[in-house]
Amino acid sequence: LKNHYDVVIIGSGGAGLTSAIQAYELGLSPVILEKMDKIGGNTTRASSGMNAAETFVQLNHKIVDSFEDFYNETFIGGGKMNNQELLKFFTEHGALAIDWLAQHDIKLDDLTITGGMKTMRTHRPSSLAPIGGYLVTELLKYIAKYQIPLFDNIKVTDLLTDKGQITGVKALTDQEIMITTDAVVLATGGFGAGKDLLAEYRSDLLNLRTTNQPGATGDGLKLAKKIGAKLVDMDQVQVHPTVQQDTPHAFLIGEAVRGEGAILVNNDGKRFVNELDTRKNVTKAIDDLGGTGAYLIFDRDIRSRVKAIEFYDHVGLVKTGQNVEELAQEIGVDSQILQQTVYDWNAAVETQKDSKFNRTTGMERNISDGPFYAIHIAPAVHYTMGGVAINHKTQVLNEDNQVIKGLFAAGEVAGGLHGNNRIGGNSIAETVVFGRQAGQQVYKYLKD
Ligand code: ADP
Repeated sequence: LKNHYDVVIIGSGGAGLTSAIQAYELGLSPVILEKMDKIGGNTTRASSGMNAAETFVQLNHKIVDSFEDFYNETFIGGGKMNNQELLKFFTEHGALAIDWLAQHDIKLDDLTITGGMKTMRTHRPSSLAPIGGYLVTELLKYIAKYQIPLFDNIKVTDLLTDKGQITGVKALTDQEIMITTDAVVLATGGFGAGKDLLAEYRSDLLNLRTTNQPGATGDGLKLAKKIGAKLVDMDQVQVHPTVQQDTPHAFLIGEAVRGEGAILVNNDGKRFVNELDTRKNVTKAIDDLGGTGAYLIFDRDIRSRVKAIEFYDHVGLVKTGQNVEELAQEIGVDSQILQQTVYDWNAAVETQKDSKFNRTTGMERNISDGPFYAIHIAPAVHYTMGGVAINHKTQVLNEDNQVIKGLFAAGEVAGGLHGNNRIGGNSIAETVVFGRQAGQQVYKYLKD
């Protein structure tokens, strides 16, 4: 570890790794500091994919999409609370981010769909492996190739400034250290595992479990606030509807399972919601069941479309029945009713008309190919939409909406893009789109 770098990047998730690679490719010498002993943050847990519109991958699949649709669906999904400057930049730069990844041997050649979207624009690897682990593993190959220094177990504790301008960071390893730099990228993620911030902004969620890694404690928000940054949308916390939490660990069961065709049933074995409505609405529908949670129901064909299910099964989260009746017995719901539910759903797929709940997506395949499977799920804290205020250049803003010189932020630490509900597939996209932007804007800042 040296005592000076062109840019200090705090956090080793998708946003941190991407901004480091971009900065390096522009000729800068970055360092990445990670406080945990594990690299990759919450990004490694992401399962669905990366949303982008007008990509070459979509055209390969004969899907004609538009920035406008991507913008509008995200805006509606976010309760029209999204920061429109950020949303415009985001929706218009996803395709470039897909190209950039492809140029770095990161190929997201398959497509799926998530809740609240009307078009297949969630890009994922053709191996159908969960996106997060794949992305971090592949980005780390470039970090290694470029020999970009990356240190774990170093926690940044202060941002140093002179006349309001970044001059360095203070950090803690086994001792306190100081690094001088003219630019810092906050890529510290959110506060889904930060009980103090949750208590301050959303005490009603304190009794829920979280899908987040333990380091997601909102450090970046606190660091930035101490030097005058504005925080926005702090009370907007996403609760993910489908999390398996009957074991000590809370396992997020990604939206792709529904996107590929799974349904949700209640304890009576009946559907109760459009499974691909937004996370906010599906969560509310499950909450309204009165605390029982619900079951995801799918068959062998759907299972084969989502690699992560092998892992869920391996750790004992999946119930199996050779036929629907047997599955009903396994999960303790009335088998007549569950059989009728599956029968009705298959008819809806056949006619492409769900008269009960108006579902219109994830209806490519029915549930008829045994064995049949169920996963018990319930909502858990998942993502914090709020964070530090930035402009589309990823420059952090103070309470007067003035740029804090030398301070940039990308990824979950930044607030505003998602409004009151993040669409699945938009967080990975955010880390790559704004991670690249941060690397570029740091270069411009240091050069000017
Ligand atoms: P994003 O998806 O926005 O890239 P992630 O959650 O994937 O965010 O990654 C953020 C990373 O930042 C995590 O690995 C987290 O442990 C790390 N981090 C958080 N606070 C600090 C800190 N104070 N110092 C160093 N690293 C930090």
